[in-house]
Amino acid sequence: MLSALQLHSRGWRVSVFDSGSAGRESSWAGGGILSPILPWNYPEAVWQLSRRSLPLYDALAPELAEATGVDPELTASGAMLLDPDQIQAGAAWCAAAGLAAPEIDAILQTRGPSLPGLLLPWIGQIRNPRLGQALRLRLRQLGIALHENTPVTGWLRDGGRVAGVDTAAGEHRGDCVVLAAGAWSGALGALPVAPVRGQMLLLRAAPGRLKRIVLDGGRYLIPRRDGRILVGSTVESAGFDKRVTGAAREELLAFAVGLLGTEAAGQVETQWSGLRPGSADGIPYIGEHPALPGLWVNTGHYRNGLVMAPASAELLADLMEGKPTQLDAAAYRLGAGRL
Ligand SMILES: Cc1cc2nc3c(=O)[nH]c(=O)nc-3n(C[C@H](O)[C@H](O)[C@H](O)COP(=O)(O)OP(=O)(O)OC[C@H]3O[C@@H](n4cnc5c(N)ncnc54)[C@H](O)[C@@H]3O)c2cc1C
Repeated sequence: MLSALQLHSRGWRVSVFDSGSAGRESSWAGGGILSPILPWNYPEAVWQLSRRSLPLYDALAPELAEATGVDPELTASGAMLLDPDQIQAGAAWCAAAGLAAPEIDAILQTRGPSLPGLLLPWIGQIRNPRLGQALRLRLRQLGIALHENTPVTGWLRDGGRVAGVDTAAGEHRGDCVVLAAGAWSGALGALPVAPVRGQMLLLRAAPGRLKRIVLDGGRYLIPRRDGRILVGSTVESAGFDKRVTGAAREELLAFAVGLLGTEAAGQVETQWSGLRPGSADGIPYIGEHPALPGLWVNTGHYRNGLVMAPASAELLADLMEGKPTQLDAAAYRLGAGRL
């Protein structure tokens, strides 16, 4: 939907096809943290798209809220990192990247005086289900044709070029086609994109119970404005199976209880899972498909598709229009070594 919005804003006539309801798959299931978790452990290309997205979200979120009445709740909550073995690396990386990370010793302790934390005030969040809802409304307001419950089943060809989509509801022709089908992009575009299941728990809590995102040992807590707390997440290879498991519930709840106390145990509201579009190196594929000219790709965002989305859409549109790009596009290109 962000790719569609970006192209529409540049004067393209855009139609969107979704096999279900737009914004209800991984983009709904995710946590909405607007940074890779421990960005210093990710390839630079992931950080570049993430960083570029932050000012784009600052402009987009209030625009969507005003136009649609659905506020995606972009919130500068900040994050507290508790992993003892990551704190030094995190502090050094923040300093090198010119990002604030207050002195470790000056941090308010969340787990008792002996365990330090590193405050990362620049890590915010977006309430992604609302972002999806707002985008869906915005697309309709702008007259972008949104064909839901309409799976794409293949590509129309004109000579050697992709010139449209075959769908369950018939053929649709276009000058260009963009493949942005998340975890399902692999089969559609012969790309190395595979589903990676992530399970989450949602806890009821009073507003203000937790003020910041907490990152610890690969798990996290995310406080929403209404007090609810998301506990995430698992990273599992389970094909396209979206069932939730008792084991994941126990593990995530134990993590939450360790940080919030036993009161958390009785506060589980719901559990869900989503399928991340996993790429081999976590770097999305953005650009024209080398074997299928006319087919453009914006997929494979793995664990960071919400934070990287606005800059990915911008990069895609610049490439489609042959314009100079804000970031070095080479890192996201499909081709040698990445297909
Ligand atoms: C538990 C969990 C936590 C996460 N936390 C974060 C986080 O905190 N921050 C962050 O940045 N990222 C996070 N992510 C990752 C992020 O959610 C994804 O990278 C991102 O949402 C991928 O977006 P997408 O549009 O590519 O895929 P999706 O949101 O999955 O959308 C793909 C769409 O394609 C449609 N589709 C599939 N097949 C077809 C077809 N044949 N024809 C037409 N349409 C089709 C689907 O119906 C769907 O609507 C998380 C993911 C999970 C699961």
